[in-house]
Amino acid sequence: MPSPLINSEIPIGRFAPSPTGELHLGSLTTALASYCHIKSLGGRWLLRMEDTDTQRCKPEFSQQILRDLDNLGLHHDGEVIYQSQRQAIYDDYLHDKLADTAYACECSRKDLAGFNVYPRFCLGKGLTWIGHKIRVQLPDRDVTFLDNLQGWQSVNPQQTLGDVVLKRADGIINYFLAVSVDDGLQGVTHIMRGLDILPLTTAQIALMDMLDLPAVRSWHHLPLVQNAYGQKLSKQNLAQPIDTGSVQKCQALIQHGLGLLKQPPVEMDTPERMLVQAVVQWDETPLKGQAVLGRTG
Ligand code: GLU
Repeated sequence: MPSPLINSEIPIGRFAPSPTGELHLGSLTTALASYCHIKSLGGRWLLRMEDTDTQRCKPEFSQQILRDLDNLGLHHDGEVIYQSQRQAIYDDYLHDKLADTAYACECSRKDLAGFNVYPRFCLGKGLTWIGHKIRVQLPDRDVTFLDNLQGWQSVNPQQTLGDVVLKRADGIINYFLAVSVDDGLQGVTHIMRGLDILPLTTAQIALMDMLDLPAVRSWHHLPLVQNAYGQKLSKQNLAQPIDTGSVQKCQALIQHGLGLLKQPPVEMDTPERMLVQAVVQWDETPLKGQAVLGRTG
């Protein structure tokens, strides 16, 4: 089982798209913001493909995301990590670190209709872990952290999420376990991601602690880009993919993304040089306390 990389002197950020589709304006703003932020701190920007869900994620989307980021000058540091190749690591952490707090569950969706959090029907049944989904008992206490954009957060993950599923009955590791293991193992110190994930963050903090992984030092949950109906842009609601097929298009995308992020404009130049300017000018102040970056489409 690999042990965490501790290199706390250098800030480490990451962009962690799920390749269930191509990048859209929402994911572009997350990539741009996390890049500019971590580079403004002199840090490293890692890229991780969150493709554990092999039914929904497609290698061609990963390839397109890599091409788009490269065209935009958003060059990552180090090797790209693919979660689909790290199943054994997540399984090891599950068995080694969560043996006492995780348990197998055979409840169907129908059994659980009407419950907000899992009513622990299977806790204590001692079901085999093979062929069943695995849940973990999240702590029943308030977990508190400072989000640099959204302010202090204090949430009891047991009351809001309950015993979340870490591994599905078909063997697929859920996002929540994979993200916690990888942020810990990759020594990520600064997480900047969409506000839609904020409800999971105290649970991630608690789980990383249970996994004996180093804590993330700094959190930012970014306001979201919405569509014309006020929904978060997502592949599910058919957000338009970005087109990075020419330098002019990349320049326009960078300008547009920085504008949505309420950053001062940069001079038209190569994408790489535009990003150098954006890093120098990076200022998170206008994003503080905001839930929405803007609407599009
Ligand atoms: N993979 C998640 C997504 O594409 C992001 C996870 C994260 O940044 O923690 O929405």
